Amino acid sequence: MPILQPVPLADYTSRIFQAAGVPKMTADLVGQSLVAANLAGHDSHGVIRIMQYLRQIDEGELRPQATPEIERETAVMALLNGHRCFGQLGAKVAIETGINKARENAVATVGLKHSGHVGRLGEWVGLAAEAGLIALAYANGGRSSGLVAPFGGAERRMGTNPIAVAIPLENRAPLLLDFATSAVAEGKVRVALNSGKPIPEGWALDKTGAPTMNPADLYDGGMLLPAAGHKGYSLALLSDFLGGILTGAGGPGLPGSILGNGVLFVALNIEAFRPLADFFADGTHITDRIKATKPASGFDEVLLPGEPEARSAQARQEDGIPLDEITWSQIVEVARKLSVADIA
Ligand code: NAD
Repeated sequence: MPILQPVPLADYTSRIFQAAGVPKMTADLVGQSLVAANLAGHDSHGVIRIMQYLRQIDEGELRPQATPEIERETAVMALLNGHRCFGQLGAKVAIETGINKARENAVATVGLKHSGHVGRLGEWVGLAAEAGLIALAYANGGRSSGLVAPFGGAERRMGTNPIAVAIPLENRAPLLLDFATSAVAEGKVRVALNSGKPIPEGWALDKTGAPTMNPADLYDGGMLLPAAGHKGYSLALLSDFLGGILTGAGGPGLPGSILGNGVLFVALNIEAFRPLADFFADGTHITDRIKATKPASGFDEVLLPGEPEARSAQARQEDGIPLDEITWSQIVEVARKLSVADIA
């Protein structure tokens, strides 16, 4: 299995996108963001997406040179139109706009529409936590049919509609909740397919509505199931309404939707509510108490949301990023087609 070092892999990714007409600043951002997802252990949102983004450029879904534009704005909100820009660029501008407004006005909400796939939603709320703010994000997917069945249904109706929240802590990495509202992110099924592995029961139904463990069934008219039954399904609907309908990004079945994410970000300035030191003291109390919980049978310890990703990032920074053979050979093939020099 190829093991890649993060810095050369991000540089290689950036050079691939530059060769496809993406300006260097955007290509660097996308390269770093995809590799950060691999570092975090979410290979489904890592460099495996290179082929998808290149295909979207070819098909005119993504406009490599596009930049997000503020369409509506008040002191506490903004609506950005991505004009089919890379989602990573749209999301970064959106969360930075939210951070600046929340610093001035205690809270801010920023919508992003008509942008590409934003990747790991948690990366963007994480920027707010690094700046000392709390941030929430609700994203929906604009595929024409959807990929996820509603609870009790056996037809594609919704996207995998992720939700992410980042909360800064003192002396610990931020709490980072970041997950699809489907049983699993779609990319994890693709990773299983590329690795020749079955998927666990409860992730997907085939096109006839029968439970399946064959990842190929998802790409043959099958569908993902919602996470946690009716609860994940309800949260997915919330993401459709906040990320898709409120922003005007659209969603499955709605005309004008593009193959990307609509996102609503909410940023909260903690100091507007109470002194930061008091928030941190209570946050430390709660998280220390949770970390001190006696592990249940079969577990070594209780983890906080965000800990698995932080640990993976540390290990993969040191040991490199393992990529399955199929994904790596696909990346090398597209790079060579674009006359990109091999990875350093
Ligand atoms: P997942 O099921 O692996 O869940 C990840 C979340 O659960 C993280 O917050 C993690 O810290 C937490 N977690 C994991 N194990 C834990 C434990 N033992 N204790 C406490 N917390 C724990 O994630 P997923 O649903 O497969 O999503 C993976 C990524 O895919 C996310 O980054 C998500 O944003 C992204 N995604 C993006 C889109 C999109 O359209 N842009 C769509 C779906 C998913």
